[in-house]
Amino acid sequence: MPLAPDPPIPMRALLAGARRKQPAMLRLIRQLVQLESPSGDKAAVDACVALAAAHAGALGGRVKLRRQRGFGDVLEARFGPKTKAASAKPTLLLGHLDTVWPLGTLQTMPCRVDAGRLWGPGALDMKAGVAMAFTAIEMLAEAGLLHREIVLLLNSDEEVGSPVSRPITERLAVGCAAVYVLEPAQGLAFKTARKGTGNWRIDVTGVAAHAGVDFEKGANAIRELARVVETVSGWTDLKCGLTVSVGVAGGGSRTNVIPAQAWAEVDVRIARKADGPRIERKFASLQPVDKSCALTVAGGINRPPMERTRSTVRLYRQARALAAELGFALDESSTGGASDGNFTAALGIPTLDGMGAVGEGAHARHESILLEHLAPRTALLAGLLAGR
Ligand SMILES: [Zn+2]
Repeated sequence: MPLAPDPPIPMRALLAGARRKQPAMLRLIRQLVQLESPSGDKAAVDACVALAAAHAGALGGRVKLRRQRGFGDVLEARFGPKTKAASAKPTLLLGHLDTVWPLGTLQTMPCRVDAGRLWGPGALDMKAGVAMAFTAIEMLAEAGLLHREIVLLLNSDEEVGSPVSRPITERLAVGCAAVYVLEPAQGLAFKTARKGTGNWRIDVTGVAAHAGVDFEKGANAIRELARVVETVSGWTDLKCGLTVSVGVAGGGSRTNVIPAQAWAEVDVRIARKADGPRIERKFASLQPVDKSCALTVAGGINRPPMERTRSTVRLYRQARALAAELGFALDESSTGGASDGNFTAALGIPTLDGMGAVGEGAHARHESILLEHLAPRTALLAGLLAGR
């Protein structure tokens, strides 16, 4: 790994710098949170992207807005020396500016500082992480520690599976030495493994008939769906980290009609890459038990798992050593939730995730970040980025 720090990185000075910058960092987090940015509202997300782009420009970043039609724009900002053929590859800082919260959430969930926390929709996931990245870059620039190019990539569609940003993320990641993902920490830990995710929709078409008059002529789509639900749920293998969960289902029209339609939506999580094609084959081979019914099966694995590779563990150990210099223990953990780190890890690029804020309640009413961890984590992020 070319990331070995040389000469030693002044972690204590970085921590002092992060503490000095904390008020400005909090102001930026507030500004970002107050621009509500649900993935589905392009104009709203773009306003948040514009604020981030202006901030990147003010820090001397080389800013490129990758315009999108259906989703918010994708912001790419480069800092530090331009990478030349012979020099070390850049580091990719990966984040998103969209949230799961609809417009107007601030009215009942205002952005506020209270009880040692900053509260608000999208604060933890992940506007604080974005502000931490900007602060870390600013500190490195001021301290003359920006030795290698940093690519900051912020997308607007992560919370809906990154349909348009995925190819951009993947294209940039392959040219980078490492990827740091600004998602929230898992408790206090960095994430070195994430499950992959898949989604399927199953539609059953039966034959409608009067439940009293023509029972024998009907083919009950709900009954067939029940069999399908039982079959796919049985593919769960907890030992291997494979889960299949039918999350939503529906069907039928009225009680005295044998239902001709039923459907279900299925969530699949895999810990091992090899389980992806295996589970896809299983869904593809589903057959109706009642031959008068027909099945339509659509879906697939959309995020490969982020497996705990050796190169990722090496990054984590480096982070742990720098954290120790700052006086705190840094654990690693794995999660069933996916992020854009899944894409970059699957390409074989060392990927460390959970490097954003520490807090609670992502996607929940009590979403908040813990202020006491803001400066130490920002210093740690800066320290990792300072490697030559
Ligand atoms: Zn997130």
